Amino acid sequence: MNILIINSGSSSIKYQLLEMPLAKITCLGSIERIGSDEAISTYKTDTHKVEKTYPILSHKAGLERITSLLLDSETGVINSTEDIDAIGHRVVHGGSNYTETTLVTEEVKTKIKSLSPLAPLHNPANLEGILMAEEIFDSAKQMIVFDTAFHGTIPVTAKKYALPNELFEDKRIQAYGFHGTSHKYVSEKANEYLNKKHTKLISIHLGNGCSITAIKDGKSVDHSMGFAPSNGLVMGTRSGDIDHSIIFYMVNTLGYSLDKVNELLNKKSGMLGLTGFNDLRDIEEEAGKGNAQCILALEMNAYRIKKYIGAYTASMNGLDAIIFTAGIGENSSLMRQLICKDLEYFNIYIDDSKNELRASTLREINTKGAKVKLLVIPTNEELEIAKQVYKLLT
Ligand code: ADP
Repeated sequence: MNILIINSGSSSIKYQLLEMPLAKITCLGSIERIGSDEAISTYKTDTHKVEKTYPILSHKAGLERITSLLLDSETGVINSTEDIDAIGHRVVHGGSNYTETTLVTEEVKTKIKSLSPLAPLHNPANLEGILMAEEIFDSAKQMIVFDTAFHGTIPVTAKKYALPNELFEDKRIQAYGFHGTSHKYVSEKANEYLNKKHTKLISIHLGNGCSITAIKDGKSVDHSMGFAPSNGLVMGTRSGDIDHSIIFYMVNTLGYSLDKVNELLNKKSGMLGLTGFNDLRDIEEEAGKGNAQCILALEMNAYRIKKYIGAYTASMNGLDAIIFTAGIGENSSLMRQLICKDLEYFNIYIDDSKNELRASTLREINTKGAKVKLLVIPTNEELEIAKQVYKLLT
């Protein structure tokens, strides 16, 4: 069975074509920096590698590019769109309605649209991906795996806000949690590696979006993003935690419109707002040249993560391992070093030379004998989605 996975992020699409049940990857790739004149399109099979930098201004254009790569007469892997049996879509916000892998229906699409204000960078892009895929791959089954699903186990103590009760009970205002597919995948890998009956893990997903999850015995018990994927850590363009009174000040005193505030918090803040760059590679390069704003932004980013490590260690009353994953978590030795330094009180000791090594598989970067394991684990949301889609279809 050929399952195509489409994973649309805020400015990227990652895709993989897998042959299930063996999970053999037929091809994979990504479109990064969507919206820019220098978007990077990559495509890889066992025999070919295609990389191109050119303008890709929308997710729709990105998906058209992916389809033409799959069908290409020289480097493609399918003869017709009918060769695809099913498509697995990642959708970021499923609200309280969807906690399981779901077949796409008109009702589900309406719900995804209605949740768009809560995930403005993602749900519209996810829905566009579904609509395009239905058009292009019209004979394939379309399935959805929601990012919120893994966090259904967060206890009420952690997911309820201290607001009037009816807002929780009637209006479903609560913390939902995101990046669930990634946190689930890497925490399962960590649990296999640790081979212990009971574990207390902190999973740190650092990509364009960033989040941190406390995971006890394989279950999500707390998470940094809340009602929408905007709370918590400093991200590429999102502020993460701020005092909500700033929003009232911006509107009532500075005269900003609510749309402007929304755009400012989601698209112009975070590392971009602090430095003028949102790609961590650019920020690290500038910091290396002595750019003070970039140095401060990296320190602030790491400091926020440290605070969550402290909070989640307290909430679980212990810690066996910290997992670093996603673009930054897997690749930035500098961020990992900044996060882990000066945490001896928590038995966290990073080995600087192991931290510098690059590998595409799970690796341990703590010093020998350190009580808390520090693990770099490449995430594979696409494989996790394929497994769930295959399970439902069969
Ligand atoms: P998304 O949230 O869109 O899935 P990714 O997980 O692909 O994002 O992560 C994107 C981030 O990873 C970008 O900020 C990018 O700069 C960063 N990144 C990728 N490779 C490296 C690297 N070698 N060093 C530092 N940061 C990197």
